[in-house]
Amino acid sequence: MADSPAFDYVANRRGITDPALIRRLGLGYVGEPSTSHERFQGMLAVPYLRHGYSGPNVTTIRFACIADDCAHEHHDKISSLPGHGVRLYNTRDLLAPADEICICLGEWDTITALTYGLHAVGVQSVTGWKPYMAQAFQGYKKVRIFTRIGDRDQSMQWANELAAQIPAAIVESHPVARGEPAALRP
Ligand SMILES: [Zn+2]
Repeated sequence: MADSPAFDYVANRRGITDPALIRRLGLGYVGEPSTSHERFQGMLAVPYLRHGYSGPNVTTIRFACIADDCAHEHHDKISSLPGHGVRLYNTRDLLAPADEICICLGEWDTITALTYGLHAVGVQSVTGWKPYMAQAFQGYKKVRIFTRIGDRDQSMQWANELAAQIPAAIVESHPVARGEPAALRP
């Protein structure tokens, strides 16, 4: 990751510069892809981690395109491994001692929330929520669901769908500018 194009992207395009956070999230650059991962060459690897006995274990990895001039015609902006389905991002925070948790749309909003010291998990997309996921958010005093102002109400619809299934949910809207971290101050 260090000195890689992925590091530049994370720092300059996403405003994430804390080396400890980057390490904790296991973000990486696909410089030499392993067999069957060739199409992810040059992308940013975003692992989905869970607590293991001697450190984090990887449940899946998603790959973000970081090419400036790419229109993402032949791949998604962020691609999943085949057959891995939709999952919650950063489920480790569900095991943290906390009264409050945030649900964000996508990995980047989740990571931005983490930079503000919040506990946060991410839903992969506006179609990435499954009703069984609501079980994981029971028992919190407050579940903050972050939507983005300016995305033509897509995320508001998504947030309201979640809020209907989570008892302590509060929907909050924050402005988001392309390539800029969302303003998610508590
Ligand atoms: Zn692309």
